[in-house]
Amino acid sequence: AKEQGRNTWRFYSDVMDQANTDKFNLLQRIRDALKNNEFKLYYQPKIDLQHQQVQGAEALLRWPQNDGSFINPAEVIELAEYSGLILELGAWVLQQACNDCQQWRQLGFPDVKVAVNLSPIQFRDGRLEHTVLDALRQSGLPPSALELELTESLLIDNSDFVQQQLSSLGALGISFAIDDFGTGYSNLGYLRQFNASSLKVDKSFISSLSISLRDEPLVRAIIQLAKSLELSTVAEGVEDDATFQLLKQLGCDAAQGYLWSAALPPDQFTRYLQKQR
Ligand code: C2E
Ligand code: CA
Ligand code: CA
Ligand code: CA
Repeated sequence: AKEQGRNTWRFYSDVMDQANTDKFNLLQRIRDALKNNEFKLYYQPKIDLQHQQVQGAEALLRWPQNDGSFINPAEVIELAEYSGLILELGAWVLQQACNDCQQWRQLGFPDVKVAVNLSPIQFRDGRLEHTVLDALRQSGLPPSALELELTESLLIDNSDFVQQQLSSLGALGISFAIDDFGTGYSNLGYLRQFNASSLKVDKSFISSLSISLRDEPLVRAIIQLAKSLELSTVAEGVEDDATFQLLKQLGCDAAQGYLWSAALPPDQFTRYLQKQR
């Protein structure tokens, strides 16, 4: 039995070694891809539900492979965060998103906004304000057209350092959205302190909304909570018309999802804007 235990342990250890080697190799490939400009930003339309209009887009990282597939962005982000590469990657994302949005505005869509996902690591680094200002200055995009999507894990960090960066970015006129709302923390105290303009209801509550009505009371309550705090609500992961109708009825302000479109390359998003006009 002892012998067998050791073999099991060795097997486990080999599997771990393999997993670490795979991660290490992927990290090296991510470094190269960043250097060789292989990353792309795609844009998912954000729809204003009451007016049925495109109000902007969320920028989402894409890494196309030779065979036409994409590497899972969440996996790329996780490794980039772990290695610190997220600072460089995140700066590239900010610049690219500002450039693309400014281009749409100049192409005749002056009200279009862009939302960029930020990692908490970018906040803790201390150069974020500089990076954001740089991206705005180089693109010419007004701060009011930029929205930063932050997760609850960052917002419950009430260190002076994080709070001060949030308020100086806010003072520039940039707006904040709370991403994946409802998945993280039960302590909602941060909602009072923090000056966000919108709240994104996580797709885990939205995707089953039209099938099982189980999530309806929850989504209704989140929308009411947001309203009482004067936050607008964005539902993510809307895939069918029944969900869309229900959300509109519940007073949700905006939504994203495959019902309208997956994330698109910048030129296809331009065409999407032109078609919707
Ligand atoms: P997220 O910010 O919550 O983004 C929403 C995810 O839902 C995206 O996955 C999007 O493609 C997907 N989605 C959109 N509509 C639908 C729908 O109708 N149904 C379903 N099932 N899914 C939908 P994606 O692109 O794989 O991104 C995954 C996560 O990776 C993002 O979650 C975000 O946390 C992270 N991420 C992506 N790009 C960036 C980036 O540039 N910076 C940072 N820090 N994180 C990023
Ligand atoms: Ca997001
Ligand atoms: Ca989200
Ligand atoms: Ca998410």
